[in-house]
Formats: sequence, structure tokens, C-alpha cells
Amino acid sequence: MMTGDTRQHPSALVLFSGGQDSTMCLAWALTRYPHVETLGFDYGQRHRIELRCRETLLRKFPEEFPKWRKRLGPDHTINIPALGKISESALTRDVEIEMQENGLPNTFVPGRNLLFFTYAAALGYRRGLHALVGGMCETDYSGYPDCRDETLKMLGKAIAMGTETDFIIETPLMHLTKARTWDLTERLGGMPLVDLIVEDTHSCYLGERGTRHDWGYGCGTCPACDLRAKGFKAWRAKMANSATV
Ligand code: ZN
Repeated sequence: MMTGDTRQHPSALVLFSGGQDSTMCLAWALTRYPHVETLGFDYGQRHRIELRCRETLLRKFPEEFPKWRKRLGPDHTINIPALGKISESALTRDVEIEMQENGLPNTFVPGRNLLFFTYAAALGYRRGLHALVGGMCETDYSGYPDCRDETLKMLGKAIAMGTETDFIIETPLMHLTKARTWDLTERLGGMPLVDLIVEDTHSCYLGERGTRHDWGYGCGTCPACDLRAKGFKAWRAKMANSATV
């Protein structure tokens, strides 16, 4: 995890998609920064449900967590339709999820996180938000190269140099397993935050919200659901163990 200096960075901009990881990042930023704004991207993703989830979450955060109400500033959305047009990803096209010859799943949208942070910096420059927070994680099964710590550290440096501004990229989930992410959820916002994430975030690659599992909604079998379900189970098992010791 990169550590920010909150004395230098009183404000943060969170890349907020409405998924589990970015919702965790929002909670993390709200415990750490006096002023937090959110940014979503509409790039023609196949499942619009993500965008609806983020609206619900942004409404519920200040309602359910009064301690964070004053800290949560405006939400922003940027449309990048070109990204969906130029990429052949399973997240933007109606195709089966599968591994490609290069060893990456076809859910990889090339350049997505690089673009997201660059757009975030352009907005953050104008709004005075110099800590850019994202939920990228190296421990995800996929090993997306634009989620790696080294990639984002270098990107942070490039953005800071290219704008002559003290931007920092923060990735609080970078080295956490999904079980530890659930653990952090509980530490930051207690069971109300766990419940909010279960009920209102969306991670399923297939856009399925018909079935409610103990870990949330989803098809239960796609790689994102699998990861989320396994992490939740491991976290619950650890909680049960520590309760009986
Ligand atoms: Zn799924």
C-alpha cells in the first residue's frame, strides 16, 4: 500500500464503480481524508447495473454513516465511449469469459486503469484533489497488468511529473486477499458496512442480480463471484475461529 500524507493531501478523489473494492476504497478514504469526492466512468460497460449500484451506494453512505456525511463531496461521471469501441473485452462485448493466448482473461480492458487515473488527475487538478484512490489489487486471480503495484506507482510518478502537482495514487487493497478486504470492511464501518457491501455493491461479470447469496448478489460462478464468495467464506471462518478461542 502506498501511504499518503494527509497533511499534504486534505482531499481525495476515489475511483468509484459501485463494486465491492471501490466501495471499500470510498470507506477507507472517508476515514482518512477530511474531504472526499467520487468519480465514475461510463465506457460502454455491458452491465449497466454497476452504474445503478453506485447511485444507491452514494445515497446510502451519508444516510447510514453520519460520521462520514460531512466528508463526502460531489460525485462526478466521465463518459469514455471510445474505450468500449476500441477494446474487445468481455466487459464491453457480449462474449463468453475465457482465457486468451497471452495468459490474460478476456475481461481485461487494455489501458483502462491507466486512462481512469489520467482522467482522475485531470479532474483532480481542477478540483484540488491530489490523492487519487483506486481499488486495484494484485492478489486478484487475473493478474491484470494495470492493477499491479509497480504499474500504478510508476503511473503516479508520471502523473505528478506531467502535471507538476503533488499527485499520489493510493491503492489500499493492493496486497490484501479478499478475506482481508472483508476484514478491513468490518474494521472501518462495522457490520453496517459489511451489510451495505453485501446488499448494494455489484461485482459479477455477468451482471446477474437475481440470486442473493450470503456474500451478495451474483451468478456465483464467474471469476468475480468466485473470488468474492471464497473471500467471504474465509473471512467468516476466521471470525468463527477467533470467537471460539
Ligand atoms: Zn458472477
